[in-house]
Amino acid sequence: MSTTSNLNTVAKTKILNGGPLPTVIAGPCSAESEEQMLQTARELKKDHRVSIFRAGIWKPRTRPGMFEGVGTVGLEWLQTVKQETGLLTTVEVANTQHVEEALKYGVDILWVGARTTVNPFSVQEIADALRGTDIPVMVKNPVNPDIQLWLGALERLNQAGITDLALIHRGFSTPSNKPYRNHPKWQTIQEIRSLAPGIPLLCDPSHIAGRRDLLETVSQQALRLGADGLMIETHINPDVALSDASQQVTPSGLDKLLTVLDLESERVAQPEQLQDLRSLIDKLDHELLNVLFLRADVSKRIGEYKRANALDIYQSGRWQQLIENRLKAAGDIGLDEEFVRAIFDAIHGFSLGIQNEVFANPAVTTRVSQE
Ligand code: PEP
Ligand code: MN
Repeated sequence: MSTTSNLNTVAKTKILNGGPLPTVIAGPCSAESEEQMLQTARELKKDHRVSIFRAGIWKPRTRPGMFEGVGTVGLEWLQTVKQETGLLTTVEVANTQHVEEALKYGVDILWVGARTTVNPFSVQEIADALRGTDIPVMVKNPVNPDIQLWLGALERLNQAGITDLALIHRGFSTPSNKPYRNHPKWQTIQEIRSLAPGIPLLCDPSHIAGRRDLLETVSQQALRLGADGLMIETHINPDVALSDASQQVTPSGLDKLLTVLDLESERVAQPEQLQDLRSLIDKLDHELLNVLFLRADVSKRIGEYKRANALDIYQSGRWQQLIENRLKAAGDIGLDEEFVRAIFDAIHGFSLGIQNEVFANPAVTTRVSQE
């Protein structure tokens, strides 16, 4: 299967502001009443940084029996919000009926939720329902950290004719999410960017953080990694929200957060400082490559020793000991365990390959190095 995407998109997007500033999407997790929607939207409208109003209309929860969204009546409220404030509106759609109703009520932008992106049947159903329209669609990452599923959802929508697409990074369910509700796995931003170049990427710090006090750190991190915007759940009275109460902020809380984040200056380049830092990265990367080269050379010599002494290439005790030691050393200096494990898995796999080659071609005795 090809891992690179073949997306046909247009440069102009309704989702982005068109300028250098990140897009801010705000609004409640769920539409609860017309009053709640209008009060929230009126406050948000006062903040020039907010351009899109969000609200969940259909809210199937992890377990049934809780508040499951107000349904179609919420779309009428959303229409009133749009008429009164002029904010663009967006809702989550998960099936054909949702798409049809959202289009009927003039919603400006749709989004596909994390629980839907995991399921290609559902994504295809949404794509088919959208055929012939040109409404912008934002795709949240799947709940599980599977970049191909995320990419696949973009491709299904694109093949149905949707060209105004965006990604929303909302974190992943992993064995240990702490302290987050959903682990950000920041490296996935880079991965999806290289697979889907040119597609705007927004971050949803609310669903990553799961709690108000982490929103600032998560948002800051996302902006530093070049996120094109933020989707932040905002409720006129978060403590009594019918869903996701602990992660929602008030409109004035959002105002404070956006001010601390200093969106404007995030985007102002500081060329000299940036150049210095990039030179440092270039230097460190060369050192890294050199160390990897030297390590491969030693690994080859170990392979020759094993072959000469009839030892097995793979020795599980040694590998176990090595990886535990490296993870501990990494932890001691504050490096992410998953990241370090992935690097050593790759290094170890490469070493085994080198030694296999030594065993397969006993005549070859040249070292990896150029000596
Ligand atoms: C939401 O945005 O309210 C939502 C349900 O998000 P997610 O799909 O990221 O869980
Ligand atoms: Mn929510």
